[in-house]
Amino acid sequence: MRQNVVVLGSTGSIGDSTLDVIGRNPSKFKLAALSCDSSYELLAQQCELYKPLFAVVTLKKTAQKLSERLKELQCSTEVVFGVESLCEILRESNIDIVVAAIVGSAGLRPTLAAIQSGKKVLLANKESLVMAGPLMMRAAAAGKATILPIDSEHNAIFQCLPLNYSKTGCGGVIKLSLSASGGPFRGWNLDKMQGVSPSQACAHPNWKMGQKVSIDSATLMNKGLEVIEASFLFDLPTDRIEVVLHPQSILHSAVHFADGSVLAQLGNPDMRIPIAHALGWPDRIESGVDALDMRSLGKLEFSEVDDYNFPCLRLAYEASRVGGDAPTALNAANEVAVAAFLNLRISFNQISEVVEYLMNTYSFSELRSLEAVEEADLRARSISEARVCKIES
Ligand code: NDP
Ligand code: MG
Repeated sequence: MRQNVVVLGSTGSIGDSTLDVIGRNPSKFKLAALSCDSSYELLAQQCELYKPLFAVVTLKKTAQKLSERLKELQCSTEVVFGVESLCEILRESNIDIVVAAIVGSAGLRPTLAAIQSGKKVLLANKESLVMAGPLMMRAAAAGKATILPIDSEHNAIFQCLPLNYSKTGCGGVIKLSLSASGGPFRGWNLDKMQGVSPSQACAHPNWKMGQKVSIDSATLMNKGLEVIEASFLFDLPTDRIEVVLHPQSILHSAVHFADGSVLAQLGNPDMRIPIAHALGWPDRIESGVDALDMRSLGKLEFSEVDDYNFPCLRLAYEASRVGGDAPTALNAANEVAVAAFLNLRISFNQISEVVEYLMNTYSFSELRSLEAVEEADLRARSISEARVCKIES
């Protein structure tokens, strides 16, 4: 019996890798719906190739363009628009798997809806978990959803944890080591990074990713968000989650146990590995990635990460320690700052300046409901946008 899959954010980098893995396993998976924001041309090509029942975009005018394009291609996929329609589709009882690969806070509502309706959710959209971690983990427990991380570090940890981990407390786990490549500016100082351009910051040495996560990797905010993500997913405080600089991106993260054993997952840096792992789980399926040739690897290096020149990492730890809506606010400030950097309104180093300003001025509260998450997100965005305007003037 084939499993019905919805891919949220199918036109992005994770979406593309997911479709590749699904295309290699046609007897196991069937695409029920694909979604994007505005890339309707690419979505139309994906619909022609994979013939999903539904294609979902954000706006009505994009839906009209997509419908016209699909008519030309004689493709019968039904076009719908808006986040509510998307949530309705993924709540359908015949949907088995939802791949949450929308970037940023726009992924929050659909990811939460998938979790609340008890689906197997493959989580790439780390921002939604950072914004609403307690809500999402509670909803997963109540709705009996399975959250399988496809962020490579978290997928590696998931693979190394004992099977009974969540049922027995910590299962002998002492700490987690999250690998960080260090991004394009590894070894640089603040002075040297002062004038870097968006295209320099997007040029990641090991991974080809969307713009936002590439900038986050360059500032190390990505690793900060991942520390918070790991803390929610694996129910550990962030002082038991360390970041290790590992430039080769071959060892994707590790789990340390009480007896001194350390288990790690290794593989070539290709997101199709964690995606295939999570799609197939608990079985193993074909990912299309070459086997790792350990004889030709040479040196694997590990060292401490530099959170002086990359303050975003330190700010993320701080947000996690504060708790409540601090991670939500941190994420919002970072989204505002990254967009401002991409639009050439602020410099690269000012991304962390905007986030630090938010952390110093925002009054933190509890996070009890989705409304509280959205309110915190809006409030932090408005403070951060004002800060960007101040920097510009
Ligand atoms: P991309 O920018 O490549 O793709 C983002 C996807 O989200 C696109 O399909 C885009 O549609 C869609 N999207 C953007 N804005 C909206 C919106 N407002 N409403 C609905 N859909 C929207 O991102 P990535 O694939 O690189 O990353 C996706 C997520 O996965 C991020 O949270 C990232 O942190 C995480 N991740 C990514 C990794 C990677 O290797 N790329 C690794 C680990 C995690 P459109 O094309 O129309 O804009
Ligand atoms: Mg990652």
